Amino acid sequence: MSAKPDRPEVDQDAGHLEDMPSKQDDDSWKDRPPYRTTDASEKFQKRHTAHCHCGRVKYWLSQEKPLAAKFCHCIDCQALHGAPFQWAAIFHKEDLHFEKGAEGLAFYHAPSKGTHYELPVKVSCANCHSPLMDEGRNMVLMFPGIIKFRGAEDKKHFDPQCHIFYSQRVVDLPDGKPKWVGLDKKSELMKDVQPHEAETIVGERKTETAE
Ligand SMILES: [Zn+2]
Ligand SMILES: [Zn+2]
Repeated sequence: MSAKPDRPEVDQDAGHLEDMPSKQDDDSWKDRPPYRTTDASEKFQKRHTAHCHCGRVKYWLSQEKPLAAKFCHCIDCQALHGAPFQWAAIFHKEDLHFEKGAEGLAFYHAPSKGTHYELPVKVSCANCHSPLMDEGRNMVLMFPGIIKFRGAEDKKHFDPQCHIFYSQRVVDLPDGKPKWVGLDKKSELMKDVQPHEAETIVGERKTETAE
């Protein structure tokens, strides 16, 4: 019955640690996407299913493809994901639906190093600690590694368009995709190396930008 709220513009900074603080003193966020629990009147299309490693947290995506997908090489992602870089796909909050709402989730507010719910917040499974998503003010960055893809075609929709914070990388990835010093379209593009020149970066990071 109720009209869908206007969709906000794509928030390039979604989930990034410099995001504006937005303190929540009540629990009203649990009634909003992506945490609100199933409402019988709601027609939510379950196009993709995602769940954490232990399977206690499950959610669905209503869209076939994300607004964008990226590899982030920033040092915060390296530390928080225990990986050389992070693969993220951007969705509107209402495109996600957790099976049990906020139940079983753990939150981490990186700017204050607190384990409470405050945007931007990193969301993981409270049991197995698989990273699930970063929630920004308007968007979420979910991690496609937890999607149970039905096939290669499905997965292709999540192919990243670019690399961000490439200046902080630990390994060269000469895939021909745009490589940004910081955020995409808000920083400079960097030079790609030839595949035979690719290496693990152990010393000073190269910061050569493209012409
Ligand atoms: Zn889990
Ligand atoms: Zn990052």
